[in-house]
Amino acid sequence: MARHPAACDTAVACTATVTRTAGADFAEYRDRAVNRLRPIALGLALSLACAPAAQALNIEFNYEYDLSGFFAAGTLERTALEEAGAWYETNLTDSLTAIGDGPGLNDSYTAKFSNPSKFDPVTGQLESLQIDNFSIAADTVRIYVGAVGLEAGTGLNTNTLGVGAPGTPDPDGSLDYQNAMVSRGQGAGGKSLDIYGSMANDFALWGGYLSIDNTGRNWHSDPYTLPTGGQPDLFSVLLHELGHVFGIGTSFSWFNQLNTAQTRFLGPDSVASYGDDVPMQSGGAHWANGTTSLTLDFIANGVEAGLLKETAFDPSLLLGSRKVLTELDVAGLRDVGWTIPVTAVPLPPAGWLCGIALVWVVRARRNVAA
Ligand SMILES: [Zn+2]
Repeated sequence: MARHPAACDTAVACTATVTRTAGADFAEYRDRAVNRLRPIALGLALSLACAPAAQALNIEFNYEYDLSGFFAAGTLERTALEEAGAWYETNLTDSLTAIGDGPGLNDSYTAKFSNPSKFDPVTGQLESLQIDNFSIAADTVRIYVGAVGLEAGTGLNTNTLGVGAPGTPDPDGSLDYQNAMVSRGQGAGGKSLDIYGSMANDFALWGGYLSIDNTGRNWHSDPYTLPTGGQPDLFSVLLHELGHVFGIGTSFSWFNQLNTAQTRFLGPDSVASYGDDVPMQSGGAHWANGTTSLTLDFIANGVEAGLLKETAFDPSLLLGSRKVLTELDVAGLRDVGWTIPVTAVPLPPAGWLCGIALVWVVRARRNVAA
């Protein structure tokens, strides 16, 4: 079966850039829409409550910008989105404090993101949007979803099936307020520096956006059956793009664990899972194409647990196949900063080392466009 080159590449997420200002610990986190986070200075820590009990995250999928109705109520596309989101809701157990305007005169929160259904004709990028006086409840994130002709978008990989990235937080006001809003209580100090910049070792978000290519695609949208023929599998793409929303290849904590050349990922959970530094796709936003690991329990979605399969967070998807999260993918999310009490999958006999060798054989045969 022909491999669709870089099919699942998320040009937005994959090119979400982390740039550093010379001489400053602060950095700009920028998505494709070139939203900027104002530099936030070191301030008092948000006091952290005692260790939170494990609890589920709540994802609010927002359809306000689903201009084509790709995820309309009652569709299989909506079901696939909810099914993919359910894994993250169930398994990411960190506690996130609420976001909203603060007590200070100037304490206000603006959320910035990209329109998942519309390109800006001037910039050629997804249109920049922002919501002033943004608020969201504790343990909740909001993800704006939509669909557009991603292949027609300038600057995007011509085989892009989907894009996803966290939104940009832009709180204004006191340093205490900004620290609290950016960190949402995550990070050892509850400071924005724990989340953004060269010292970041954890991740938090208000939410983000996710867009699916809706032109010329014969999507397999049913999450409960497997794709056939040359169909791209929506459930697989949604699992992947949600990973980008939750920091895979898009967060400071992720990029801070790459080697300088961004060719190897050094996060401890990922290294333990893979058995070595993890080889990366160019740019460091994905595992190297063809990287394999053991599947988690997604039997309900047609994939058995404990099988050595291509990871969900490598950059491509084989048409007519389904990918689910693997142990390495989950380890990557843990290295981003998420607490994930997923039950380990038994290691099949002699499977793992063979898999590592297989990675390089397979990579050599594949034409990866991005
Ligand atoms: Zn991607």
